[in-house]
Amino acid sequence: MPRDTKKLVWCDAHCHLQDPRLAPHLAGVLRRAAESNVALLHVAATSEADWPAVRALAAAHPRRIIASYGLHPWYIANRTPRWLHRLREILAAAPAGIGEIGLDGKLADGLDRDREAVFLAQLDLAYELGVPATIHCRDAWGPMLAILLNAPRHPAGLLIHAYSGPPDVLRDLAARNIHISFGGTLTRPQNHRARENARRVPDGHYLLESDAPDLPPTLPPGRSPHLLGDDSRTLSEPAYIPYTGAILAELRQTTPAEIADATTANAHRLFAKLLP
Ligand SMILES: [Zn+2]
Repeated sequence: MPRDTKKLVWCDAHCHLQDPRLAPHLAGVLRRAAESNVALLHVAATSEADWPAVRALAAAHPRRIIASYGLHPWYIANRTPRWLHRLREILAAAPAGIGEIGLDGKLADGLDRDREAVFLAQLDLAYELGVPATIHCRDAWGPMLAILLNAPRHPAGLLIHAYSGPPDVLRDLAARNIHISFGGTLTRPQNHRARENARRVPDGHYLLESDAPDLPPTLPPGRSPHLLGDDSRTLSEPAYIPYTGAILAELRQTTPAEIADATTANAHRLFAKLLP
């Protein structure tokens, strides 16, 4: 069978199916993901408040959903005094990664020192336990790269989701077992940075993500979105992964089949410890 007609299998390396905006539509989201051959979904928590919902999703769909738990940089202010202890507990209860964690320089809340301390505590835990961590970074590439490029090679691997950093460090990141993932923003022709990164990231170190329900792709003319949010904007969902994958294939001058195979293999290697 020619490669491009075989059934492709895709993975969504980063989504938030626990988000309340998706909850009423979850059955449809999962059905459309299956119809689009998006076979594996990595759901990342964002705050202690959503850890139980993420755990329930992974428990309800053990062959399709894998999970990570952590404190997202936007949500550190309401952490409980026992948050790190609770994180250790939930990571000990079932195979899981750490995420979404990171730095964000756009928040004018005076908590940047706290945010870095919370990020480093979680990153250290990912090294200690040897589990993958998923990283968010916005407007904080200086400190983020200083941390990551001075850290040892991570045993399981790290994922920087929706990578918007500079292309010239991609090789150094890959050498430290750090991966990047591409989502809906790659479909925007004016996003030169993401497109440059898509061309230059070394083989073995790139994945695809929906970041559902945020950062939806720009859909081609004539294709209508599955779900709209209250603000009438498209909600992202895993079913769009093959479309983003086709754009990535164009940018890397290869076929969607190669991209599906590569991103699925990369996801299975990175998330090996989370798989059932
Ligand atoms: Zn996210």
